[in-house]
Amino acid sequence: MRESTPPQSLPWTAALVRRLGDSPGAALGLALILVALVATVDYATGYELRFAVLYLAPIALATWTGGRSAGILIVVIASLFWLLSFGSAHPYSGDFFFYWEGIAMLAVYLAFVLLLERLRLSLTRADQRFSQVLEELDSAVFVVDEDSRQILYANQSLARLIGADPLTLGAGELDRRLGLGTDDGDGSPGVGGDAIGAGPESGFTSREARNAESGRWYLVRTGLIPWKSNRHVKLQMITDISVQKRAQALKQQHRDMLHQTDRLASLAEIASTLAHEVNQPLMAIAGYNDACLRMLAATSCDRNDVVTALQRCREQALRAGRIISRVREFIRSKRPSPALCDINALVKESLALLETQLEDNAIAVQVSLSPSPLLTHADQTLLVQVIVNLLQNAIDAMDKSVPARRKLSVLTDKPADALIVVSVSDQGAGIPAGVDEQLFTPLFTTKPQGMGLGLSICRSVVEAHGGRIAHRANPEGGCTFHFTLPADAN
Ligand code: ADP
Repeated sequence: MRESTPPQSLPWTAALVRRLGDSPGAALGLALILVALVATVDYATGYELRFAVLYLAPIALATWTGGRSAGILIVVIASLFWLLSFGSAHPYSGDFFFYWEGIAMLAVYLAFVLLLERLRLSLTRADQRFSQVLEELDSAVFVVDEDSRQILYANQSLARLIGADPLTLGAGELDRRLGLGTDDGDGSPGVGGDAIGAGPESGFTSREARNAESGRWYLVRTGLIPWKSNRHVKLQMITDISVQKRAQALKQQHRDMLHQTDRLASLAEIASTLAHEVNQPLMAIAGYNDACLRMLAATSCDRNDVVTALQRCREQALRAGRIISRVREFIRSKRPSPALCDINALVKESLALLETQLEDNAIAVQVSLSPSPLLTHADQTLLVQVIVNLLQNAIDAMDKSVPARRKLSVLTDKPADALIVVSVSDQGAGIPAGVDEQLFTPLFTTKPQGMGLGLSICRSVVEAHGGRIAHRANPEGGCTFHFTLPADAN
């Protein structure tokens, strides 16, 4: 441990003890004077007051400052003084008693020296262990006397950090060289720092600070600790955390990049979802438009038919608009906006939307709806989209089927109090072998013009409403897609 000389402000007794500790010769001299003083006072009082016990003071002083040998030396001198003067002044009834007291006193003094020496060694070793730990720390550690602003202790790491011997500097100069500001918040120019913790329980405060010159980041921990002579002094630990800071910055960068990628993916999802969902009403609009043109080009044309076709055209255009806003909202918030609705009504609405396509493809539709309304809290537009997607897939699957097998059935049911089931069955080609696992994966398609988004959107919507979607092969060919929804409790 590297410590500086005591500051001037120490009380004189403490300063004297420390100075004697630094100079064992002077301590031994003082011990001899004290021995002579005790002997003189003892002799002068005629040994009535038995001052011999006071020899323990010079013995302690010599042992503490000079070690065991110095202690034993003072013991021997003190015992001689006692033997010579006390022996002549107070003869015992027998020599045995005189020597017995002498030997007993000598033994007590020696035991005192040995105990004191052991205590001194233990303290020195504990001190050495503590210093060794501090010296081996990567953190720079130093102790400042707040009154005199003197550096009382500094480890090697601090010397390496500032490139000078800290003990030759004052606390102000040390703060300036460290360039980390101070704990009072009067940070020097160019220093950035954040207080990251203060705890009266631990008595230490922590802050992060950057050295403007080197650009390195440090964790500065400061607290008061008891020092010699029971004073409280300021201990500061400075740890280089530049590597952790860089790692943190990289992590943040990585997170930002992921976030960016996520946003791009969401944008792509919005774009492709819109393209997929809007495609169907646009195709219908084009179909009605063609029909209108054909009717107008014909020699005789029924005005009512044209009006009907144009009305349907308008409905499809409005539907496309609703889809755009609902899909955008859904993808942005990822949450549907539910309202109480009847699933049977939604099935009818979906079938009506595909009426022309079903007719054009000569598909026979069998609808089996539960007799009572199937109420649930759901986003109607999204659920209609789910049913339309399933119907559209069924129509596509029966594209190449013979007329007798162009049969589509829609069923709604409430198999349990809290459960609604909707299923769409077809007698089409069935699910191609080996693709069951991928059906609900976005962008998976087996159709030349397909986008592979319909089923993945269906699953997102159904699951967002607390339901499940699945499929199974029909024994008579084709397949059934079915989804569940929680029924309204009331
Ligand atoms: P897309 O219809 O654009 O291909 P989907 O996600 O709706 O996207 O469907 C993914 C794939 O699932 C389809 O390409 C098809 O192979 C298969 N599929 C979906 N529904 C059916 C069905 N009713 N019968 C047979 N295959 C189907």
